[in-house]
Amino acid sequence: MLRMSTLFLRTLREDPADAEVPSHKLLVRAGYVRRVAPGVYAWLPLGVRVLERVARVVREEMDRIGAQEVHLPALVPAEYYQASGRWTEYGDNVFRLKDRKGADYMLGPTHEEVFTTLVKGEYSSYKDLPVMIYQVQTKYRDEARPRAGVLRGREFVMKDSYSFDLDDAGLQRSYDLHREAYVRTFERLGLDYRVVSAVSGAMGGSASEEFLATAPTGEDTYVACTACDYAANTEAVEVRAPEAPSTEHPQLEVLDTPDTPTIGTLVEHLRGRGYEVTAADTLKNVVVTLRHPDGSTEVLAVGVPGDREVDLKRLEANVAPAEVLPFDDFATVPGLVKGYIGPQGLPDGVRYVVDPLVVDGSAWVTGANQPGRHAVDVVAGRDFVPSGVLPAAEVREGDLCPRCGSALSIDRGIEIGHIFQLGRKYADAFSLDVLGPDSKPVRVTMGSYGIGVSRAVAAIAEQWHDDKGLVWPREVAPFDVHVVGVGKGEQGPEAERIAAALEDRGLRVLLDDRGGSPGVAFKDAELLGTPTVVVVGKALADGEVEVRDRRSGDSRRVPVGSVVDEVVAEVRSGSTGS
Ligand code: ATP
Ligand code: MG
Repeated sequence: MLRMSTLFLRTLREDPADAEVPSHKLLVRAGYVRRVAPGVYAWLPLGVRVLERVARVVREEMDRIGAQEVHLPALVPAEYYQASGRWTEYGDNVFRLKDRKGADYMLGPTHEEVFTTLVKGEYSSYKDLPVMIYQVQTKYRDEARPRAGVLRGREFVMKDSYSFDLDDAGLQRSYDLHREAYVRTFERLGLDYRVVSAVSGAMGGSASEEFLATAPTGEDTYVACTACDYAANTEAVEVRAPEAPSTEHPQLEVLDTPDTPTIGTLVEHLRGRGYEVTAADTLKNVVVTLRHPDGSTEVLAVGVPGDREVDLKRLEANVAPAEVLPFDDFATVPGLVKGYIGPQGLPDGVRYVVDPLVVDGSAWVTGANQPGRHAVDVVAGRDFVPSGVLPAAEVREGDLCPRCGSALSIDRGIEIGHIFQLGRKYADAFSLDVLGPDSKPVRVTMGSYGIGVSRAVAAIAEQWHDDKGLVWPREVAPFDVHVVGVGKGEQGPEAERIAAALEDRGLRVLLDDRGGSPGVAFKDAELLGTPTVVVVGKALADGEVEVRDRRSGDSRRVPVGSVVDEVVAEVRSGSTGS
């Protein structure tokens, strides 16, 4: 039993100045966490209890699918990440350090390399596989924008697991097992979530999915069909392309359109001349630089309907592993005319691709590649042939579902889990082979799977709170029951007795034994968010105590003699009471 009189806890009346989202405000105000540095937090007794409850659920569900827990170091020699190329790939996003001999280390942001090496050291035969191993560990990432308390930390707790299989079918099984474990985990944690596809079909179907806790404060946007169960993050989303028009278009015509370098000025100019055009009829061509993993660069122009922006994250997801960099050096590419770019007659050295919304046979108003001039009736497939199709346009509410054609909606969420079929990327980097039945080496195929354990605490708080404070679901609550004694008479000793009896029955009890003002005690109980609160107060004169349900706010009177049985039953049934 923990007692408020001695608990290492100070609740705060005011929201912390740096907090914007409810979970951050409440976890600080209720004394669960304290900030130490940007994105670096101390977990106080109540926070530790919730964190451990979440980790416990995660472990139980991992164990249930046969994954085995290990614990690897957070401090990892550079060699591991150099072997995979990620020592350089990570850039500024990781913490690096040197030991006294000058050797390089990294504080692990994720551990594919170390797990691959570990398995390579232990296993050598096809008989050893499949195997799934996991850890619950502190991870380090020097995030550019640590945010919202423990939601995006630079030090955070992650469950990461890795599967090792002989073939694709095995990997699919390990992946499916993880998916089921994640579903069970997030259900038990009381989270409202969506599973969204994180890789577009073009790149390999369901080889990667994210679990997003729905939350208006979430940093991730995802697209979900209003009719079927299609959902994808905005980077991976596919949109049904419009039907190709069957009309014959007039010949391409070049017009003088002085001082019209933007879609807005162009449309205004043309409408002034009697052309019935809107921004959606124009083809916007955005130029970027692609940097490939080997360091080479390429100038890429992307055509999207002019009423949409290019979504650079979506574009980047579709050109991976290349990186998308801004392009502004028009002087280096003669013939590329800023504000007047068109896909017909682009200079050599510029690769041109279109978004799938730019279908073959569609006609556009676009640049004529000469200053102050545009072309109308520029037809895709007739006047220009793109070298490829890359989803790059921003996706909008009402765009069409690729599966069923109904309207898509756009919502926000918090990424709480990610499952990923890695394939042989790391097995190749570390030559992870086992001997097959025919004594020939077989290259192992891998999956990696993460859950943000500390982030989940914040995500739960984001979904489970009200204007008075936190409202924990039973499975993760720091206590099963919060007993408050108010009054100067027998209430204190009676509260002690009830708390002790509840604890004897196996419940986790917080006792407010401070004997202060009832107002303060009740406010704190609401702020801390234990699902059931037992108040031993005035009603004791009638032989009764009050049982309050934190979530619904309902309260009922219960005879002192039966309160322990009732509360135990309520907690065991998993209900939130009332
Ligand atoms: P994000 O897109 O939010 O930066 P990520 O895709 O880089 O996350 P993964 O590498 O997939 O993250 O890590 C697995 C899980 O770890 C994520 O699904 C998330 O729940 C959690 N996580 C990642 N970064 C952080 C962080 N900075 N703070 C807290 N949890 C994190
Ligand atoms: Mg992820």
